[in-house]
Amino acid sequence: MTNKIRYFIANWKMYGDLGSLKSIKNVIKFSRLSKSKKFKIIYCPPYTLLSDFVDTLKKSSIETGAQNIHENYDFGAHTGFINSKMLKNLGVKYVIIGHSENRTLGEDHKQINKKILSAIKSKLNVIFCIGETSFQRKNKKTNIILKKQIMNGLKGIGKKCKIIVAYEPVWSIGTGVVPNNLELEKNIKFIKSIISKKFNNYKILYGGSVSPNNIKRLNMIDLLDGYLIGGASQSSKKLIDIIKKTFN
Ligand code: PEP
Repeated sequence: MTNKIRYFIANWKMYGDLGSLKSIKNVIKFSRLSKSKKFKIIYCPPYTLLSDFVDTLKKSSIETGAQNIHENYDFGAHTGFINSKMLKNLGVKYVIIGHSENRTLGEDHKQINKKILSAIKSKLNVIFCIGETSFQRKNKKTNIILKKQIMNGLKGIGKKCKIIVAYEPVWSIGTGVVPNNLELEKNIKFIKSIISKKFNNYKILYGGSVSPNNIKRLNMIDLLDGYLIGGASQSSKKLIDIIKKTFN
């Protein structure tokens, strides 16, 4: 395994309350004790916990991200939404954009692109999710879909911008099914071939049912810079296990 920094991004989705803050104390302790700077942990809790996470994590190396934003950079009459400036103001550093659970609800390429532009304008780090559905995969459309998502989502974004791409096959999210290494490596190589032409500074992560049971196998793919972890990240023990198994 190469010596690069590995990203472990915890997507808590619509889970967690004030009581769950206690559970991250073990992860804070773990990150303090592991003096090595070889990994970065980013927690993306629901909006209701962002402020508490920023506060709890401020004396640690762990950072906080949000799970989505409204596409408009400017303040406005959008009941129930939050824009990139509000997150920045709260001390949030990252934001997930284009998650398949939101694409399924109707979020389109144009909105995703506007969200990314807004996040960059607010100096938030973007975690841009892409991935094919099982239907698209069966019909051998994976490359076409991934390219379309990348070209549309990242339209007009400067080469110097830092971008984190999370490849998350939709059929793998929350299902316990993970692509085999051959397929995953092929798709990651394809994504890299497009992203590397567009950006100088990028990371490529994998997301979809990552767990302590499959992390060793996933780590064999050297092209990966880390993982976006949903379900397993809500357990401090599992998250720590995933990180430990990446380095041991
Ligand atoms: C996700 O929703 O981003 C995700 C990767 O979920 P899970 O790990 O639960 O498949």
